[in-house]
Order: sequence, then structure tokens, then C-alpha cells
Amino acid sequence: MYITNTAKLVEQLSLFISYVQEKDERSSFISFRDSTGFLGREEDYKSRIAEEARKELNYCSWNESWVGTGQIAECAKRAMNKAFNLVNKNQQIDFKNRLDPNHPKYRSESERVLYDIYRNPLCRESTAFTNAVEAFGAKYDTIAFLFFIKDDTRFLPISTGHFDKGFSTLEIDYQTSYQCSWENYKGFIEIIREIRAVMEELLPMQGTPRLIDAHSFIWVIQQDRFINWFPSAEQKVQIEQTAEKLIQNVVSGSGGRRSITSSTFIRSAEVVKETRKRANGICQYCNNPAPFTDKKGNPYLEVHHIIWLSRGGEDSSTNTVALCPNCHTRMHILDKPEDIEILKKAIDSTT
Ligand SMILES: [Zn+2]
Ligand SMILES: [Zn+2]
Repeated sequence: MYITNTAKLVEQLSLFISYVQEKDERSSFISFRDSTGFLGREEDYKSRIAEEARKELNYCSWNESWVGTGQIAECAKRAMNKAFNLVNKNQQIDFKNRLDPNHPKYRSESERVLYDIYRNPLCRESTAFTNAVEAFGAKYDTIAFLFFIKDDTRFLPISTGHFDKGFSTLEIDYQTSYQCSWENYKGFIEIIREIRAVMEELLPMQGTPRLIDAHSFIWVIQQDRFINWFPSAEQKVQIEQTAEKLIQNVVSGSGGRRSITSSTFIRSAEVVKETRKRANGICQYCNNPAPFTDKKGNPYLEVHHIIWLSRGGEDSSTNTVALCPNCHTRMHILDKPEDIEILKKAIDSTT
């Protein structure tokens, strides 16, 4: 597992939700596919590019006898023309030059390499990737794009510096810059897969998130306009409440979807369970019994982080209390230092 800090990921997801909701001027579900929404407008072009480039490539029609005739090169050049901002402009030109017999950079093996990527079932993808690095250079954008348009449910485009920045925000220790290799690419996709699984579990989304949606999430959170976006006081309260709700969803599992198996999420789920168990059905602020029981008959109390997650509070039971919904709302709306002291004493007396 590459995700090692649940609280950090949950914090960024909560910020992301508020950010998108502000852009969309609505507070319901967030959708990557609704073309009238911010994400659909700004991010969904990537899946369209994959489709259009694949159409140009038309690799299903390729025949092995085409290798060396220039026919494959023509298809590949047209596909690269569709890459838009998914491949750096210089890399696009360099790629086309290596396919052009009249250019000094021409590589005679380039059509064979492309044939192996798309049409040769006997050539392993790892080998095809390595051969592509040989033929087209260690150009990560280019090679990732070639795989992305082969199958956008398994592969993703990359922009190394930007993704390294996004990963570092999430405290995921992984570098892609100057690391163009099959091994590195596999790791990159695995991280995005993990994030996709978390999004599926926790986010109030319409439809199952695709791999490219998790990719868009990282893309958005590393942008300066996101980093420099300052939520209003009201939004801050909302962000913190969303973060806590997401963490509690880890335990209950939203709608019986498959569970995240990451050890960090199991730890987070245990914090929630332990906190509720310790409170024993009594609100740790007003000392009244939980106002109602949940569907399973357990007293309903919400887990609250005494030092807010968004302020660097730890997601551990030394920083959590179980509160009735009323007192929980009070903590977020009033946010009083005296109340924080009361909560700290409450856990001291139960541990
Ligand atoms: Zn209470
Ligand atoms: Zn709270």
C-alpha cells in the first residue's frame, strides 16, 4: 500500500468536495461526468481524448505486414496530434520525428515497437514499454499516453512534476520525475487505484469512480488555484465535518460496497470503534445518553476530533470523543477553547 496517512487523504478529499461544490454552486453529489459541472467541464476531456486518439490509431485494423511500410507511423502520428495537453508539445514533435524516415531522429524500429504495444499478444506489456523507451526516449508523457489510449481503464496519462507534487501533498512517498520505466509506471497506476478505491468507499459520488477520476482528483489538488483557495469560515466548518463523516464511513461502509483493506484505514476504523466503545452510549460533553439508536440498535454518537484534522489533529483515540449530534454541532459552530478543555478532561477520566 502506498497510502500511509488516512487523515491526510481524507482532509484533501474534504477540501476537494467543498472546492468543487463552490465551483458548481451546489451542495449535492459531485460528478466527474456531468458536463455542466466543474469536473466534467475541466477534467473529463481526458477520456474523450483517449477515445478520439484511439479512433485515429485504429490499431484493430493493423496487420503485421504493415511494419516498416509507414502505415503504422501515419496512424500513430495522427493519434499523437490528438494528445492536446496530455503530452508536452516538444515530446509530441520528438515522437513524430522518430517516426519520420526523412528526419535525422528517425528510428527504424519504431513501427515494430508500436505494433508490439497494440497488436502483439506475444509481447508482454513490460517488454513493450521498455522497447518504447529505447525507440522514443525516456519520454514519460509520450509513453504513458501510448498506453492510455490503448486502454484507458487500465492505463493513465502522466505529468511527472505535477503528480509528484500531488503525491507529496498526500504524504505518499513516490517520485515519477526522471523515472520513466515500466516498474515506475505500474507503481504510479497502483497509487491511483488505491485512491480510486478510497473515493468509491467514501465520496458522495454519482456512479462508480473511474481510474481517470482519481487521476483528476490528484491533478486538481496540486494546482495553484486549489492550493491558494481559501475556504470561508462556514466552509471550514463544513470541511471538518465532511472529514469526520468520511472517517466514520470507513467503519460503517457506505451502502455495503467492498471495504478498503489498507492497514491505515483499518486503523482509522478502529479509532472510531474504540472511541464509541469508551463512551459507552453517553455523550462525553453533556453526559446524556445517545438520543437514539442506529439501525443495528447501537446508541448513536458521532466521533469528533478534539484537535480538528484540518488543524493537524491526529486521527487517534487520544484525540477523539463520542458526542451526541447536538453537542457535536456545537463544537464545530462555536469552537470554544473552554469546550476543548472539557473534552480533554473527559477522555482523561475514561482512560
Ligand atoms: Zn451531548
Ligand atoms: Zn467533529
